[in-house]
Amino acid sequence: MGYINSTYLLVALSLTVVFACIGLAIWSSRKPRVNTKKVTVTGGLARSQEITRDQKWNSDFILSAIADGVVMVGKDNKIHLLNPAASDITGWPPSEAVGLDFHNILNLVNEKGEPCALLDHAFAKALATAQPVRDSNSWLATRGGKRIPISLIVSPVVSGGSKGAESVVGVFRDITAERQEEAQRSEFISTASHEMRTPLAAIDGYLALALNEKISKVDANARKYLEKATVATQHLSVLFRDLLTSSKAEDGRLASYPAVVELGEIVEQVAEAGRFHAKEKGLELKFIMSSSDGTGGGKVIRPLYYTYIDPNRMREVLQNIIDNAVKYTAEGTVTIRLTGDASVAQIQIQDTGPGIPAEDVSHLFQKFYRVDNSMTRSVGGTGLGLFISKKIIELYNGRIWVESELDKGSTFFINIPRLTTNQALEIQKKQAITTSPLDS
Ligand code: ADP
Repeated sequence: MGYINSTYLLVALSLTVVFACIGLAIWSSRKPRVNTKKVTVTGGLARSQEITRDQKWNSDFILSAIADGVVMVGKDNKIHLLNPAASDITGWPPSEAVGLDFHNILNLVNEKGEPCALLDHAFAKALATAQPVRDSNSWLATRGGKRIPISLIVSPVVSGGSKGAESVVGVFRDITAERQEEAQRSEFISTASHEMRTPLAAIDGYLALALNEKISKVDANARKYLEKATVATQHLSVLFRDLLTSSKAEDGRLASYPAVVELGEIVEQVAEAGRFHAKEKGLELKFIMSSSDGTGGGKVIRPLYYTYIDPNRMREVLQNIIDNAVKYTAEGTVTIRLTGDASVAQIQIQDTGPGIPAEDVSHLFQKFYRVDNSMTRSVGGTGLGLFISKKIIELYNGRIWVESELDKGSTFFINIPRLTTNQALEIQKKQAITTSPLDS
């Protein structure tokens, strides 16, 4: 018995060792667990592995949940995807829209309802250039014939090695409510500024009477206060005038009476008026007329820059830019140049003022924008002049921009399409002479 027991014991022990070795071998041959976080990153997007697994279901879910319209258009100009919000805005069910040419579904028009030119369509531009395109001025004609203002951004989808866009994805929004709010705000500003100008003119008039020595007797102290009140009243009057003009410019009600105008004459007149203010401040004001047309026999030929603009509106712009150059320049020179080529007349207004910080330059033409520095704080202004100037220049298909260097100065550029002498004569022949009253 004792002998049998020890044999069994030996066998059992050997078996235990064999199983333990097999177990250890299996354990050690297991794949190591390195990462417990299940994340996939592609093209700057991070998503969990569960999402990758159920990608189709998830992207459908996300696209349905987005309140903005999302449309994907392929290189073949066909709609490949349209989410429910896009369907609601356009009036096209996805089942009908997918496979159709995008021009049928995304029928962009201008404010007057005229169709957008084929190559100007934001989707066509993004497909052609493989660059993102933003458009906040278009209207979408829906399937039912309604016109809706939209804000749209179209981004190209570019894959690895390919050059152009494989497809483009557009995201757009109905901005009817924003437009209505803007219109109401603008209407309020317009009415308020118009109404306030009348009592203000009366106050200004009475202040002038009080300061007139032939009519009123005031002591030195009272005169000082009345003079200060006059300056403040005039400032307020400029503010109301600018508010009225800017609200009109915003909703396209800015009166403009374009005619054939020789730009040189206008620039010269405004520069002459500016010279007076510049001199008062101890600044030099130069007016230089040059042209790539050349000179003749050592004698400078004065080039004629014919343009099709409202002369009064152009004076308003030049006055504002020249006034600014004088206002913000403590010492040195303001130089006004008129130059150009066959198709463009260019005005440059250069100063030796404080310059404009690079981060402010892109905001400068926005409403109420003023650079926040000691110079602007000490100099009065409304922050509306450049906004109005830009709106006016755009009326004539022109462009206005600034180049500036801190502590060196700024140059404002204005480009206006130039007419040939023949074009100018043709237009003059056709056009009846009109006057151009400014907004009262
Ligand atoms: P404002 O009534 O304040 O002059 P503008 O719209 O004409 O309004 O100008 C906007 C802002 O741009 C100004 O407040 C000023 O900060 C800046 N700016 C305009 N012109 C110049 C200039 N020539 N030099 C420096 N800063 C300027």
